[in-house]
Amino acid sequence: PVVTRFAPSPTGSLHIGGARTALFNWLYARGRGGKFLLRIEDTDRARSTPEATAAILHGLEWLGLDYDGEAVSQFECADRHAEVAHAMLASGHAYKCFSTQEEIAAFREQAKAAGTSTLFQSPWRDADPSTHPDAPFVIRVKAPREGETVIDDRVQGRVTFRNSTLDDMICLRSDGTPTYMLAVVVDDHDMGVTHIIRGDDHLANAARQTMVYNAMGWDVPVWAHIPLIHGADGKKLSKRHGALGVGEYQAMGYSAAGMRNYLARLGWSHGDDEFFTDEQAISWFNLEGIGKSPARFDFKKLENLSGQHIAKTENAALLHEIASYLDAKEEQPLTADQMTALSRALYCVKERAKTFGELIDKAHFVLGSRPFIPDEKAQKSLDNVSHSILFELTPQLQNATWSRDDLEAAVTHTAEQHDLTLGKLAAPLRAVLTGRAVSPSVFDIMLVIGREETLARLQDAIS
Ligand code: GLU
Repeated sequence: PVVTRFAPSPTGSLHIGGARTALFNWLYARGRGGKFLLRIEDTDRARSTPEATAAILHGLEWLGLDYDGEAVSQFECADRHAEVAHAMLASGHAYKCFSTQEEIAAFREQAKAAGTSTLFQSPWRDADPSTHPDAPFVIRVKAPREGETVIDDRVQGRVTFRNSTLDDMICLRSDGTPTYMLAVVVDDHDMGVTHIIRGDDHLANAARQTMVYNAMGWDVPVWAHIPLIHGADGKKLSKRHGALGVGEYQAMGYSAAGMRNYLARLGWSHGDDEFFTDEQAISWFNLEGIGKSPARFDFKKLENLSGQHIAKTENAALLHEIASYLDAKEEQPLTADQMTALSRALYCVKERAKTFGELIDKAHFVLGSRPFIPDEKAQKSLDNVSHSILFELTPQLQNATWSRDDLEAAVTHTAEQHDLTLGKLAAPLRAVLTGRAVSPSVFDIMLVIGREETLARLQDAIS
């Protein structure tokens, strides 16, 4: 069975790059009846914060990337990491190194001067344990000195590292705490991880981590190192390119489904498909479709997909997402009445809204309240017609059955009476009903707000 994991370091919020890594692991597991696990890599006590962990969990929740079981804290597994370091020591795959910082620095100086490799070569590697001093030591893994380590990567292909470039890395520090490089391997093994999908900035680590797998006689997982995300200018994505934190995207009003769709396309493709549902993404996602070169972040595509997903989301789910959007922005929640009104209006405002902010703005005609004071553009269209026309419209609407056909007939009739096109009358009517020059069709608006409110808004304008 497939087991994937997302292993963020809680040193900041969930970034776009991390979110995409999480998504790929989630898609891969969900499409294969596997498990998707979460491990918080909080071994670095100085840089890890509970706020960052909370932000990461929140980001995953917003994106709907649910993980199996409990989140694992790497720090809490420290005893187990030490146990493995000692097991490697016992089996002769690791050794105690008593070299001091000064000795290591001196080694490097000398090597530099002699023009040889500055990778530290500990004199303790093959020392007789009976000669060990009673002094602090670190545990180093015995790296192979000859040959090559090959990473058979499902994205990068076969990547070869000369073993002469790998040093005897430290697994356990002199204070008994594990290094990151050891902890990752032990945790991945203990959690039963079968596939490691992560950023290609970890590719070289894979070679070093392989030493630990080999020393312990553990199966090496399937590696898939994905290219990092770049900005539109082709440079590594950074703050300069705009928002990085997933929470910022939530606050910008993008739909979570749209974000998932967009992130899935960022570095992975399935033919020419741009828009797809979660079900499709889950059944289509594979490692073969991951590109070898960095994908570029494209806000336009994100907006476009967000809009398509908003248009296709069911009303109940949409209302729920809108509420959490307002919450993320720390804005006033909608009242129960506004929610009811919005749910009636959704069918005509969810088309062509790229974000929830746009959707809410389009729904101004139900979320706002009387009087709807026309803005500048709306006022212009009102100035173009005589108010008496709107006056005449009133009895027509009073008698209409409030079906779309009937409303259209009433407005068309009044327009014809004054030799106006329907559009010429719809514009001032829209101004009166919404205060805006742009809105959904006036017939939709009248259907949504009802007869009484329509007549009241007309009355506001005429009086
Ligand atoms: N904690 C690492 C990071 O945030 C990920 C390590 C891994 O995926 O193996 O970059």
